[in-house]
Amino acid sequence: MPWGSLRLYAVQHWLRVPLPKDGKPYAPGFFLRQKNGFISGIGRESRQGILRLIYARRCVAHGCETIIPENSAGDHLIPVALGGRNYVANFVPLCRPHNSSKGKKDLLEWWVVRQWPAVGLPLELWCHYCRLNWQLLSHETLSSDAPLYLVAFLEAAKNLLPSDGHRKALDMACSIKEIYVKPR
Ligand SMILES: [Zn+2]
Repeated sequence: MPWGSLRLYAVQHWLRVPLPKDGKPYAPGFFLRQKNGFISGIGRESRQGILRLIYARRCVAHGCETIIPENSAGDHLIPVALGGRNYVANFVPLCRPHNSSKGKKDLLEWWVVRQWPAVGLPLELWCHYCRLNWQLLSHETLSSDAPLYLVAFLEAAKNLLPSDGHRKALDMACSIKEIYVKPR
């Protein structure tokens, strides 16, 4: 499925938006109305989010929250082997046991393998992951497939939406081929 990271980005955006005044979730049209916002949003940098992650120094593994030592270099959010770079934006705070558990896996691949719930992934990290992926996966073109773990995580993420109508609208909003040609 192409555009996997865009769909993932849209779901975390949905999860961040406060409920309207009547306390009910937004209708499926939310996704279609926001489609241009998703595309410009995923193209931005997560500078503040990265800094918050660094300063919090808490392991982000599900249910862990161990404070990691100041001299810890953490781990790569997206492994170098998959195009992740050795810079601060690709940093994910993990304690030593979780660092070695993650090993060379992509963050979401690891999350899926551990069978942790999508809802347990901190939204800021989720957002940042999508943005990094979007930058890195310049090969994630309209014709290519997203990696299987990304699809698996996305399916779990879509289950957090209130109805099939929402899921359908999400797919439609993020598959409008003509609205965006990804620059290299
Ligand atoms: Zn940990």
